Amino acid sequence: MKPLELVADCGRCTGLCCVLLPFRADSGFGTDKAGGDPCHHLAADDRCGIHSVLRASGWPGCTVFDCFGAGQHLTEHTYAGRSWRDPGANRAEMGAVLSVLRLLHEAAAHLDEAVRRDPAPRDAATLLGEVTERAGGIPDELLALDLDDLMPRVSAALRAASSRVRGDGRPSYARADLAGRDLRRDDLRGADLHGSTLIAADLRGVDLDDADLLGADVRDADVRGSDLSRALFLTRPQVAAMRGDGGTRLPAGMPAPGHWPAGDRGGGAAGRRGAAQE
Ligand code: SF4
Repeated sequence: MKPLELVADCGRCTGLCCVLLPFRADSGFGTDKAGGDPCHHLAADDRCGIHSVLRASGWPGCTVFDCFGAGQHLTEHTYAGRSWRDPGANRAEMGAVLSVLRLLHEAAAHLDEAVRRDPAPRDAATLLGEVTERAGGIPDELLALDLDDLMPRVSAALRAASSRVRGDGRPSYARADLAGRDLRRDDLRGADLHGSTLIAADLRGVDLDDADLLGADVRDADVRGSDLSRALFLTRPQVAAMRGDGGTRLPAGMPAPGHWPAGDRGGGAAGRRGAAQE
């Protein structure tokens, strides 16, 4: 079974997130629009007309979205090259399928990391195979998928992997409200921060080696000079929502967001219709 591609490649997609998903202006999308309506900035070649100035134009929400590769998967495999522009295309169905596929790709990204990091990754490996197989289904199969059964099993496998990677005796802030907190003096190596609220937390210079950030809300968390290179379950959308700089260390292969201050950070822009468009 071929592994899923887990990084968005917008050049092989048809701007699906810009069409099929609903936008809300108060969530950073510049305007309200319904799912199925093309964004008015989407050009005829399916590229974003304001990609290089999204933040300055009041569209920061676009820069923190990531489909984890679901967009090109849907375009090339699930609908075999058929576009939302084609006569008779069922955009509502495509939107629902994209939502399911995005969940599966995000789950696969985390399971893939668990397999690489966990010393005993058997459950994660088995589930990664199952998720990969499910993602290869036709639209009807994807829409009939029992996510209420699958996702809790994924969560349990990730939690178990996290415990083994982090080891014993590490601090737990799972689901804690740490918004705005100054955490610069805390030892967060191996900390359990999954599901925590770290909005605008001060993490400058903090070493987050093996810290579990699964599902943490890190909007505007200040990670200038921090070491995130071995943080667990860190995603591109999370990184894009943080405030970093040239001194922030990121995992190998994860580019620094284009809106971070320039420096020695070795990457391009991340996010919705991101690097692949540049
Ligand atoms: S992020 Fe890129 S690949 Fe993913 S749905 Fe949007 S346009 Fe397509």
